[in-house]
Amino acid sequence: EERMRRGLPTKRLIRGVKHVIAVASGKGGVGKSTTAVNLAIAVSSFRKRVGILDADIFGPSVSRLMNLKGEPNINEQNGNLIPLVNYGVKAMSMGFMVGEDSPIVWRGLMVMKALQQLLHQVQWDELDLLVIDMPPGTGDTQLTISQQVELSGIVIVSTPQDIALIDAKKGANMFSKVNVPILGIVQNMSVFVCPNCQYQTHIFGKNGVNKVAKDLNIDFLGDVPLDANICDLSDIGNPIVIAKPDSIHAKCYKDIALKI
Ligand code: ADP
Repeated sequence: EERMRRGLPTKRLIRGVKHVIAVASGKGGVGKSTTAVNLAIAVSSFRKRVGILDADIFGPSVSRLMNLKGEPNINEQNGNLIPLVNYGVKAMSMGFMVGEDSPIVWRGLMVMKALQQLLHQVQWDELDLLVIDMPPGTGDTQLTISQQVELSGIVIVSTPQDIALIDAKKGANMFSKVNVPILGIVQNMSVFVCPNCQYQTHIFGKNGVNKVAKDLNIDFLGDVPLDANICDLSDIGNPIVIAKPDSIHAKCYKDIALKI
């Protein structure tokens, strides 16, 4: 009511959805979408009803990662979009509406209109958890989602490299500023273990994310090592938690899923 009185945007629940968690990162390319998809599938394997919403309008990757193609159907009665489903998870993405090679060339207003539709006009029916894959950074989309959606919290993904951590910190600070709880931070691609000799190489640095978690007083949720399988399997739309459920990498995602 206070927000309404001051003319500030009010937070809304997403119809039928119990919890909404957003996966965010400061920089692109740190593994945010890969984490979001694997976490969503891991949570659904605990007998929860899960959806994933790709809020990256300019660079949607959920369609590829979930191996989903084709335009979503529309509910004729209310115009709501009907999610596509794979691996037991419902999904909605701009990637379903445009070809993989077609860029979205829109100004801010159009983007915000599309975002509103993705947030409030998708027929999720009943979900225990909706995972939102945010675009990277601290822009309009992240701010709009933080202010309009009742979020249970944010999961931040970063590599341990300084240049990624600086932006991850900025992201964390932005969400704190708008009073969205941070569930914790995931360290991705910290170590490469040679499959032949088991030698460990810390390609992007070591433990940088632990340090940021301590500095910001947020939880360290887990560590996902570099793995060529994650990369190859993502490209063919077969997430590692499905393709290799017994791998240590799948276990990392499942452990993190238990914490969120
Ligand atoms: P973002 O959403 O942050 O832009 P992506 O999830 O698209 O990042 O990941 C970027 C690239 O890194 C993709 O090619 C993905 O397959 C790869 N990737 C992500 N995490 C790992 C990992 N732990 N090991 C190897 N490759 C990874």
